[in-house]
Amino acid sequence: MATTPDALEEVTLASLSTENLYRELISRLGEDPARDGLIDTPKRVVKSMEFLTRGYTMDADEVLHNALFDVDYDEMVIVKDIEFFSMCEHHLLPFFGKAQIAYVPNGKVIGLSKIPRLVDMFARRLQVQERLTRQIADAIEEAIHPQGVAIILEAQHLCMMMRGVEKQHSSTTTSAMLGVFKSQLQTRNEFLSLVRRAG
Ligand SMILES: [Zn+2]
Repeated sequence: MATTPDALEEVTLASLSTENLYRELISRLGEDPARDGLIDTPKRVVKSMEFLTRGYTMDADEVLHNALFDVDYDEMVIVKDIEFFSMCEHHLLPFFGKAQIAYVPNGKVIGLSKIPRLVDMFARRLQVQERLTRQIADAIEEAIHPQGVAIILEAQHLCMMMRGVEKQHSSTTTSAMLGVFKSQLQTRNEFLSLVRRAG
């Protein structure tokens, strides 16, 4: 098999079950996949990875279905401290933290419980924090065309913490400011001060 053409090798890899791929990976890390503690690990990892990336099976229309309401309200709506857990696409290691989300309605609001679900939908994919931030903002913008959307994500990345690339308690902050949060300093500052208070 030493001279297997690439094409043939691909077919062989694709035909392996995900469990067997993890079994092979464990063995390449220098472990014995057949020992007691590891024997069921491939099966567990498959399940856990399916869960951690289940956002791929969801879309915003489905998540927000029946949860968009017409309102006569144009003050800022804020949902604070939404916990999220995601996977860094560069290292396949978790990053996790909190999201602060605000929008100023323009005739429509989103059912409050749906905002964390929207965050979850994008977080449960292979991500970079910047894109995750932007995708949440864009999804809200697209769903209700508000006067503005503001998102701040603060997260800790295990790929930095565990590998000692950066200080272990450092966190990364990303933000997206659309509409009035971008054009009106006063609105942006109001958001920032509400988010900072008792965060
Ligand atoms: Zn990473």
